[in-house]
Amino acid sequence: MSPPIANGPSPQPATIGPFLGHTRIAYFTMEIALRPDVHTYSGGLGVLAGDTARASADLDLPIVFVTLLSRAGYLRQGIDAEGRQTEQPDEWQPAHFATALRAKVALLIEGREVWIRPWLHVLVSPLGNQVPVLLLSTDLPENQVEDRRITDTLYGGDESLRLKQEVVLGIGGLRALQALGFAIQTYHLNEGHAALLALDLLRRYPRPTDQVGPRELRYNVAPVREACIFTTHTPVEAGHDRFDYGLFAHVLQGYIDLDQVRLLAGQDALNMTRLALSLAGFINGVAVRHAHTTTRLFPGYRIHAVTNGVYVPGWVHPALATVFNAFSRTWAYEPTTMARFDQLPDEAVWQAHRQAKAELIDLLRERCGAALDPERPLIGFARRMTAYKRPALLFEDIEQVRALNRRHPFQVVFAGKAHPHDEGGKALVQRLHRFMRELGPELPTVFVPNYDVALARCLVAGCDIWLNTPQPPLEASGTSGMKAAVNGVLNLSVLDGWWVEGCMEGVTGWAIGGDESTSHADDAQDLYAKLGEVVLPLYYEDRPRWIWMMKQSIAKLGSFFNAHRMMRRYAAEAYIPRRPPGAGEGAGLPLR
Ligand SMILES: *Cc1c(COP(=O)(O)O)cnc(C)c1O
Repeated sequence: MSPPIANGPSPQPATIGPFLGHTRIAYFTMEIALRPDVHTYSGGLGVLAGDTARASADLDLPIVFVTLLSRAGYLRQGIDAEGRQTEQPDEWQPAHFATALRAKVALLIEGREVWIRPWLHVLVSPLGNQVPVLLLSTDLPENQVEDRRITDTLYGGDESLRLKQEVVLGIGGLRALQALGFAIQTYHLNEGHAALLALDLLRRYPRPTDQVGPRELRYNVAPVREACIFTTHTPVEAGHDRFDYGLFAHVLQGYIDLDQVRLLAGQDALNMTRLALSLAGFINGVAVRHAHTTTRLFPGYRIHAVTNGVYVPGWVHPALATVFNAFSRTWAYEPTTMARFDQLPDEAVWQAHRQAKAELIDLLRERCGAALDPERPLIGFARRMTAYKRPALLFEDIEQVRALNRRHPFQVVFAGKAHPHDEGGKALVQRLHRFMRELGPELPTVFVPNYDVALARCLVAGCDIWLNTPQPPLEASGTSGMKAAVNGVLNLSVLDGWWVEGCMEGVTGWAIGGDESTSHADDAQDLYAKLGEVVLPLYYEDRPRWIWMMKQSIAKLGSFFNAHRMMRRYAAEAYIPRRPPGAGEGAGLPLR
């Protein structure tokens, strides 16, 4: 099997022609992790979009992906002597991985003409199937200097720049598809960032004015809903993009009557999630629990659940993939067949894991000068550094951590970036470093800077235990635990997001913590108890049972939490022509 996420530049065909005739679905996403050297992603949302594209290619779905070029990436993270995050641009070389297409489209932004050029990257599946990805760029000589920078930095700058990026993605992306000659029937909005695409579609369906009351929509939503699918990823109101209507009116002057947008996107501010909810005919959360949370947050909409999955062959360590290959010829593109993997040979699984762990320990020595011990259980925690993920929960009571470590020695590796505007997240990075210094050499801990997909691949394969401590119900899905699971790295996680569906206590991993109302201190106590009484003793005292659990994790979780299953569900339930939403479905709005 060839490596699914290739390294090194790949030659790109220069034309979109081969894709135009059959492509029917367009997947819009602000970020996408196409390969490690293309820095067009920040975290989970983009990695999921990349895995979506890889599974779509394997399944030969007639789909095109649309995103921003983000030439300066998201951010390159460093850590200074005080344990503070430093941020640098994380540039990449578009010309090595994509071709600038000849088509270009113009939009009016702040009254200025802004030209947008799509670049084409062709993603090739290990099976040989190809999927096109369009990367939109405003870095064109015909644009004014400030407009040339709109598509430079992913999630960079202020509100105004963010809105302009969403205008380029949603409206610019839609028009670019048309300029290129695509005949799209279904638009999939990955998160609310691309919701303006649905608004641009809506403008094309005016209703005859004599049928419209004064406080009613002057457009016909039915054809827009028929075309649009919306996947929401955020379970809290504050997590959703909101824009001031004054800003909107300034950026998109004369584009549409604001009172019309208020009917769709909220009275006080333009809530991109509400806009997408109003205009999508199929709406889904990314886990069963998340669909329920979203229904509570936005009553009146029918929210389906399509639980996330990861592109399994992209995350399994090569040594373990060799073990899988000897057992099955189909697992990589039919991961449902992994259900049989609880029968894998113990010794081969354990040796492959030891190799992955040794490689991770080498990497941590080279990058951070850390001296970790291959015989000690290694706990991994790598995710966005932000308050609700509670990265410091493990260190809530430092004396108990010391005592725990004296009884059952362990070691910990952390990684994760904080968004430049997330002061709380940055403070957590610093706090982790203070704890790590305080614990000293008796409990080896390391924070590896600049978490990205390349590092993630080493971490999710080389740790023994994958820790996740979100504050419920704020983890929409979480996907890094799925990557760990398919490597036999056992999840120790709060019951939130995907883990509500994935956890079989003592079989696929373990649950910790309480519900939405328990305190951090109580959750930390529960974590210490589970580690000290169950997880660490099992590692030291019953290795056969540990390996049995590794195989249960690979088989039971890998056969379900994979991107192939996820994309088959989108294809079968959302992408096929759908029945128009009936009464009470689709929208909580007085629209017809
Ligand atoms: C998988 C992944 C994430 C998302 O992990 P969560 O568990 O959802 O927080 C973020 N960043 C990178 C680099 C990843 O590979």
